[in-house]
Amino acid sequence: DEDRALLEAEGPGEGDDAAGDARPVVAVIGRPNVGKSTLVNRIIGRREAVVEDVPGVTRDRVAYDAEWSGRRFTLVDTGGWEVDATGIHLRVAEQAEIAVELADAVMFVVDATVGATDTDEAVVKLLRRSGKPVVLVANKVDDQRTEADAAMLWSFGLGQPYPVSALHGRGSGDALDAVLEVLPERSAVAGAYAPGGPRRVALLGRPNVGKSSLLNKLAGSERVVVDHVAGTTRDPVDEMIELGGQTWRFVDTAGIRRRVHLTRGADFYASLRTQTALEKAEVAVVLIDAEDKIAEQDIRVVQQVIDSGRALVLAFNKWDLLDEERRYYLEREIEKELVQVPWAPRVNVSARTGRHLEKLVPALETSLDSWDQRIPTGRLNALLGEIVAAHPHPVRGGKQPRILFATQASTRPPRFVLFASGFIEASYRRFLERRLREEFGFEGSPIEIAVRVRE
Ligand code: GDP
Ligand code: GDP
Repeated sequence: DEDRALLEAEGPGEGDDAAGDARPVVAVIGRPNVGKSTLVNRIIGRREAVVEDVPGVTRDRVAYDAEWSGRRFTLVDTGGWEVDATGIHLRVAEQAEIAVELADAVMFVVDATVGATDTDEAVVKLLRRSGKPVVLVANKVDDQRTEADAAMLWSFGLGQPYPVSALHGRGSGDALDAVLEVLPERSAVAGAYAPGGPRRVALLGRPNVGKSSLLNKLAGSERVVVDHVAGTTRDPVDEMIELGGQTWRFVDTAGIRRRVHLTRGADFYASLRTQTALEKAEVAVVLIDAEDKIAEQDIRVVQQVIDSGRALVLAFNKWDLLDEERRYYLEREIEKELVQVPWAPRVNVSARTGRHLEKLVPALETSLDSWDQRIPTGRLNALLGEIVAAHPHPVRGGKQPRILFATQASTRPPRFVLFASGFIEASYRRFLERRLREEFGFEGSPIEIAVRVRE
C-alpha cells in the first residue's frame, strides 16, 4: 500500500538524507574573467558549455548539483556582474558578500597569471570577516612554469593556494578534495528538510493538554507506526497519518503515547522531548488547554518553537468544556501572554468531540507555505527603499545607519540579511519585521533578520 511504499522509500538513514536542500553549498567567487565559470563547468562535467570571453557579461548566480568523491553538494557560480569602471569594487563586494552569506564554504578564484589585484584584496577582507572556510584557487596555471605565480598568493593569508588550470583540468581535483575537507555534512544555510515526502509535524504541549487524545483522534484506524530501529517495538518514533487527503508524518510520538511519569527532572525531559521533536519537524502544533489558565510552561514551549525556526500552529484544546465566561477570559490571556506570536494561526478544537479538527490541515498548510516563502530580491529592496524613506533609522551619535541592500538568504524559515552602513537597533529590526509581515504575510512562520555591517 501507499504508506508502506513511502516508508520503504524513506527507510532509516535515507530518510535523513532526503534532505536535498540540507546539502552543503559551495560558492565560487572571484573577479570577472578569472575563470570561475570554466571551473564550475569543469566540476559539473559540462565541458561543452560556452564560456563567455567578454568580461562584464551579466549573469545571475546559478546553482548546480555537483558531486565529488561520492559527496553531493550544491555549487553556486556567481557568474559575472556589470562592470563599470568606477563601480566595479562595490559590485564585486556585493555579489561576493551575498554569495558568501549563502554558502557553507567558498572557492575563491584568482587569476594566477595576473596576481593579486586591489579587488582581490577587498574580497579577501570580506572573506576573513565572514568566518566561512575558504579554498584559494590559483587559476590559469596551465603548466609547471606558472606554478611560481600561484605560490605568490600565499600573501593573502588564506592558506595554501591550489594551482589549477580550469581550462585543462589540471589540479581541480586537489582543490575539490580541500573543499570537501572543510565542508560540513549538512548545510547550515539551507533549510532543514527537503520538499517532497510527507511533511513533518511535531505535536507539542505540556502534560495533560490532550496531545495523546488528539493524536488518537487524528490517527483513528489509519495509524501506521514507523519503526526507526528495525526489530524493536520499544521506540516507535514517527506515525504517518492521513489528513485532508494527504499523508503527514507526526514525529517523535513515542513520548506522547508512552505516558512517562517521571518524578524527578520531568521538566527537563519534557523540554528535551520538545527539542528532539522540533529537530525532526517542519511545523509544530502547540496544544494549549483552553480551560486552564495559560501557563508559564505553555509560553516556554511556544518560545522553543520560535527559537527552533519551525513553523507554528496554536491549537486550543478542550473547547467542549468552555463556557462563555472562560472564553472571554481566554481571549484576554492570549492577548497578554502570547504577544510574541500574533502571527500564528489558531484553531479551537476538541480532541474529545472532534470539533474543528478539519481546520488543522489548512492551518498547517498556511504555516508551511509561509515557512517556504521566498521574496524576490527586487521586491524586497523596493519595499525596504519605501520603508526606509518614510521611516529612516534614528540618528545615533551624529550618524545615521543606512540599509544598503537586502536579500533573503534562505527559507524554512525565511531569513533575511540586511547589509547596512552601521549598527541597526533591535527596535528598528522589530519595526522592519512588522512591515515585512504586513507586506508579505508570513502567517505561521518565524522570520529572522540578520544585519551585516559593512565597513
Ligand atoms: P569568469 O568570468 O570568472 O566566470 O571567467 P570565465 O570562466 O568566463 O573565463 C574567462 C576566460 O579565461 C575565458 O576565456 C576562459 O577560457 C579563460 N580561462 C579560464 N580558465 C582558464 C585556465 O585555466 N587557463 C587559461 N589559460 N585560460 C582560462
Ligand atoms: P497529554 O498528556 O497531553 O497527552 O494529554 P491526554 O491526551 O492524556 O489528555 C489529558 C486528559 O485530558 C485526559 O483525561 C483526556 O481525556 C482529557 N482531554 C483531552 N482532550 C480533551 C478534550 O478535547 N476535551 C475534554 N473534555 N477532555 C480532553
